[in-house]
Amino acid sequence: MSITEASRVEVEPLAVDDLEKRTRAIGRELFRAVGAGASPLNRGWWDDRLMALTMGDDRVKIQLFRFIDALPALIHSDESVGRHLREYLDQADEFVPWFMKLGVSLAPVGTLRGKLLAEIARVSATQMAHRFIAGSTPAEAFETVRQLRQRGVGFTADLLGEAVISDAEAEAYQATCIDLIKGLAPRLAAMPEEPRLDRSPFGSIPRVNLSLKLTSLTPRFDALYAESTTRRVAERLRPILRVARENQAFVNVDMEQYAYKDLTYAIFREVLSEPEFRDWADVGIVAQAYLPEAEGDLHAMEEWVRDRGTPITIRLVKGAYWDYEVTHARQMGWPVPVYLQKWQSDASFERCARFLMENHERLRPALGSHNIRSLALAMAAAESLGVPTDFYEVQMLHGMGEPIERALVDRGHRVRVYTPYGAMLPGMAYLVRRLLENTSNESFLKASFAAKGEVEALLRDPEEAGAMLFVKRRKAPAPSPLPRFQNEPLTDFTRPEARAKMSKALEEFREQVRSGPTWIPLSIGGELSAGVEQLEVTCPGNTSLVICRTAAASAEDAERAVGVARRAFETWSEVPPRQRAEVLVRAASIMRRDRFQLAAVEIFECGKPWREADGDIAEAIDFCEFYAREMIRLAEPEHRDVPGETNAIERISRGVVVVIPPWNFPLAIPTGMVVAALVAGNAVILKPAEQSPLIGRRLQEILLEAGLPSDVLQYLPGRGEVVGQALVDDPRVDLISFTGSRAVGLEINRRAAETRPGQDHVKRVIAEMGGKNALIIDDDADLDEAVVGTLQSAFGYAGQKCSACSRVVVVEGVYDAFVARLTEAARSIVVGPPEDPETFFGPIIDAEAKARILRYGALARREGWVVFAGDVGSLADQGHYVGPMIVADVAPTARIAQEEIFGPILAVIKARDLDDALAIANGTKYALTGGLYSRSPAHIARVKRGLRVGNVYINRPITGALVDRQPFGGFKLSGIGGAKAGGSSYLEEFLLTRAVTENTLRRGFAPEEAEPVSPG
Ligand SMILES: Cc1cc2nc3c(=O)[nH]c(=O)nc-3n(C[C@H](O)[C@H](O)[C@H](O)COP(=O)(O)OP(=O)(O)OC[C@H]3O[C@@H](n4cnc5c(N)ncnc54)[C@H](O)[C@@H]3O)c2cc1C
Repeated sequence: MSITEASRVEVEPLAVDDLEKRTRAIGRELFRAVGAGASPLNRGWWDDRLMALTMGDDRVKIQLFRFIDALPALIHSDESVGRHLREYLDQADEFVPWFMKLGVSLAPVGTLRGKLLAEIARVSATQMAHRFIAGSTPAEAFETVRQLRQRGVGFTADLLGEAVISDAEAEAYQATCIDLIKGLAPRLAAMPEEPRLDRSPFGSIPRVNLSLKLTSLTPRFDALYAESTTRRVAERLRPILRVARENQAFVNVDMEQYAYKDLTYAIFREVLSEPEFRDWADVGIVAQAYLPEAEGDLHAMEEWVRDRGTPITIRLVKGAYWDYEVTHARQMGWPVPVYLQKWQSDASFERCARFLMENHERLRPALGSHNIRSLALAMAAAESLGVPTDFYEVQMLHGMGEPIERALVDRGHRVRVYTPYGAMLPGMAYLVRRLLENTSNESFLKASFAAKGEVEALLRDPEEAGAMLFVKRRKAPAPSPLPRFQNEPLTDFTRPEARAKMSKALEEFREQVRSGPTWIPLSIGGELSAGVEQLEVTCPGNTSLVICRTAAASAEDAERAVGVARRAFETWSEVPPRQRAEVLVRAASIMRRDRFQLAAVEIFECGKPWREADGDIAEAIDFCEFYAREMIRLAEPEHRDVPGETNAIERISRGVVVVIPPWNFPLAIPTGMVVAALVAGNAVILKPAEQSPLIGRRLQEILLEAGLPSDVLQYLPGRGEVVGQALVDDPRVDLISFTGSRAVGLEINRRAAETRPGQDHVKRVIAEMGGKNALIIDDDADLDEAVVGTLQSAFGYAGQKCSACSRVVVVEGVYDAFVARLTEAARSIVVGPPEDPETFFGPIIDAEAKARILRYGALARREGWVVFAGDVGSLADQGHYVGPMIVADVAPTARIAQEEIFGPILAVIKARDLDDALAIANGTKYALTGGLYSRSPAHIARVKRGLRVGNVYINRPITGALVDRQPFGGFKLSGIGGAKAGGSSYLEEFLLTRAVTENTLRRGFAPEEAEPVSPG
């Protein structure tokens, strides 16, 4: 059906006051119909009283929801169900109602009562799931649909299956959509017509109605690579749309997290503008009113429909991901995309509803809400604009608003129920969202349940409700020299402007390389020189591209550099700490200014994919900001004064620091090591990694631009065995800060321990070395998360991180299932050139590293069963590419399970139980990072205590430590231990501590001590 300008209803809308009066009148009428004093909240909970009591406390609620979430994974073991219930309730111990505790404690594990308890929990959760989930087979779905039609209610079937982690799963989702349409269509066609459900002023309404999620059509739905995501999703979407059209079915696209919103709209518009679908009106999409962007999105949709010439349906909702959006944005340091006050979402819903009613010919309204006020306003707006009741519909969630549903049907409305369909396991995320919503303090349903009869308050205009809120004014924080440290937010590449900036920086860098490689001289005391030989750095992803040529320093250059540094130290260490800190803060702002240019250098010089490169720049900024604040803190002497005696613990600078960083965090690690040394008042000699001298040179330039005197930082690229060794051996060096391989770290430590002629001090060594990091997968782990987390930890930056996961230790019960899903999901890993935004897995740093990895690959074939070996195809001719490899059934003692490979080879090891897994995880010479995926609170506690590594991560990937939040570093042969990079004690490594005591007693009297004054 096409639409014309003339079809718009020309009715004078009601004045605001009248609209409000009419809204309240409809609201009262609905409340009356719902039942005087009765709650619209359906009382079909597993146990009403129990639910009400347990949900009274948020801590109990969260633990119970976690238990419910874990339950499908425990389905085969009574012992496990009982143990988990007990463990979860222990977490909220003092807040758990006595009768629950009693029930659980009366049922010790393994007894008949234990079995009974497990059975009750299982049956209760299944009942609860059935309340919200309509069925798991087409036959069950049809039965639900049939019953709904008998009640005069329509349906939209939602296919559960959110976390699609492999193409096979995406294909299965597509097939299920198609099967469901084909399965339901003939059965429904054979049913008698229900005029209210099947007819409208704009013609007949499809009887089959499907709601689907675009993210379920590909394991890689990301706006960063919008074009290929669109292509993949469109390819899987079109067949569904075709089958729907052939079978007269309606298809609605659900809206998910904010990060997917713009791309979801874009794909919808693109596919439905195609000639094949352009004239098809039986499609819809969701608008989420909790987003301030919702109104703009609706305007854009309206314009698009004008152009398309065929209407669509808009389901207007508030939005189901509120808690996630708020937490996620805060964690990332991004602006929160949703309204923060409930009344704002309600008011936005009302504005959007009015807009839809005004434009109902193009955007057919479907009101998705259980909130009587929200619905009443939309209905009043429709009345005032002369929109017939059967032009729009009201949609509700299965199991949430049955009494309201009835009242609306009686009032003559077309009501459609969202009926999730699928198995219990993929349904858990949905179920928990519904439970959270039902029990949220902000929920209309809960409020109307609690308020019992306070109808007028529930029908209040949200703007009025907002105005009544007492706005707490925050006290202005006390002025401080620097604001509190906060991690630098990562770039949100789902924003088009961020993608454009990155593309531009890459293009500029490419241009620069085309005009010839950059020349990098040595820099000693601000003087540049050519060194003894030249080294060439090529792009790891495209070895025909020479990125830069560097001078290589000789041992004599090293000696000269130490001399200059020694002299510079004398003056730099006298600069007040606060001034030194200011240099770091300025350096951080320069890095922010040049963020994309710096990332572009890393992408070409080190083969870092976009997000990895961006994360590295953010971390470098964090180091500058964090250590600046730390120095200001440490510059304050600590006093332990007693009457007649002052005691001050003071820190002084050490002297000359040699920094030898690796290439794998090309800016972050050198920045951390260099600025820590500098801000502590030391002079520094930076010997960059041979593979990444260009970004190292940029670091030096940034610090000089930030105001660092040129003789305080010497830049000495060159060969490690020449210049590195000369620096380590020099008796005038005070501290060597090294991050890199175990072999080199131990060698530096050995050489530095030797006291050479003329040396008057013991050298200090900070050495961060390798890892053989393990992730443990417990038998109750959420496998969706565990698989994704393992792949990310093992194969991010092609496994070239000291924190990378190289062993995954899986508890027997889930071993086969985990290996199967891991292997399947690994097929979706995109290997490619790092400058391509879609690339997850780029090249290996150089030919030597590649050869080493290939040798281990051959060994892996002998030591285990290679279940996945990624093919790099023609990329192999272009650069240093090696595909990811997963090796199952590896013995814990095998070489590939013991030796650091520093590449993309993941050993999968089977463990009998958690204790065995822990012993295997601890059974190497390394102790850097490690983690666990589990939903057992007791197992989580056990691993937190027993996993002997520097950084323990639970239920998340084991890479990506953040400055201040997760100070980084290990022990055993992973590092000398002690201070951790990005942590509060790290700077002390670069400082010496003195205690200064003064006797202030003079002939028996002591002066009153003045408050210590901060230096600088
Ligand atoms: C048929 C149907 C389909 C749906 N499809 C989708 C979909 O595709 N995508 C989607 O995201 N949602 C969808 N929802 C919406 C969502 O799942 C919730 O049901 C809906 O938000 C609940 O709103 P309400 O008006 O019924 O209840 P109310 O109790 O009036 O509103 C609750 C809502 O208010 C918002 N809110 C809560 N606290 C705050 C706060 N402090 N500040 C600001 N806002 C707050 C949240 O959105 C919350 O869900 C759908 C809903 C229905 C009925």
